[in-house]
Amino acid sequence: MNHIAANIRRIRENIPETVELIAVSKFKPVEMIAEAYQAGQRIFGENKAQEMKTKQAQLPPNIQWHFIGHLQTNKLKYIIPFVQMIHSVDSMKLLQEINRWAEKHNRIVDCLLQFHIATEETKFGFSYQEAEEMLSDEVSQTWKNVRLCGVMGMATFTDDKQLIRKEFRTLYGYFSSLKNEFFPSSDAFKEVSMGMTDDYPIAIEEGSTMIRVGSAIFGNRTVIV
Ligand SMILES: *Cc1c(COP(=O)(O)O)cnc(C)c1O
Repeated sequence: MNHIAANIRRIRENIPETVELIAVSKFKPVEMIAEAYQAGQRIFGENKAQEMKTKQAQLPPNIQWHFIGHLQTNKLKYIIPFVQMIHSVDSMKLLQEINRWAEKHNRIVDCLLQFHIATEETKFGFSYQEAEEMLSDEVSQTWKNVRLCGVMGMATFTDDKQLIRKEFRTLYGYFSSLKNEFFPSSDAFKEVSMGMTDDYPIAIEEGSTMIRVGSAIFGNRTVIV
């Protein structure tokens, strides 16, 4: 068995069945994605729109592509025809544009609201108040081609496990509050996308339903992002 297949198997065996594994294949060649596909993996995450489009065209059509990076509205055209879920919705403007493009393509696109939970300033995302304002705005309720499915966040890049846990707990709290306030009867609003290679065990303990794992499956990336 190759390393990629073994890595996927090992991770799957150590996480609950209810937790979805997103294989983050950014910067990795299609051959490696194909190996993961052979091993049964069907959900892949990418953070560049053009890269995702190029890979999608070369790989089996039943792969579910999840977009996980900062997304500029002028890049939406590359991914809207096929993207399964966008984890990184970080502004009202972006959600509005996703809706507009999805409508053009006669699709409903699943979206997660990204929250800023880390201490680093560079990470994108809503504050809780900004998300509340958007969801309270009547305009956002008219968007029929986006389906809000939950929240996403990235913890601080640190060895401090207590800090990471606290940030994941904060994100889970945002999820619960939004669910109560805006989505009490929505079956779709149920996802908490948190946890990467170094912190997914903590994320799962704190209620993650989707982990986004790259290096632990495909090896280290030479490019740091
Ligand atoms: C790269 C990336 C990941 C995966 O990171 P690893 O540490 O390689 O598991 C997860 N989420 C986002 C948003 C990323 O950009």
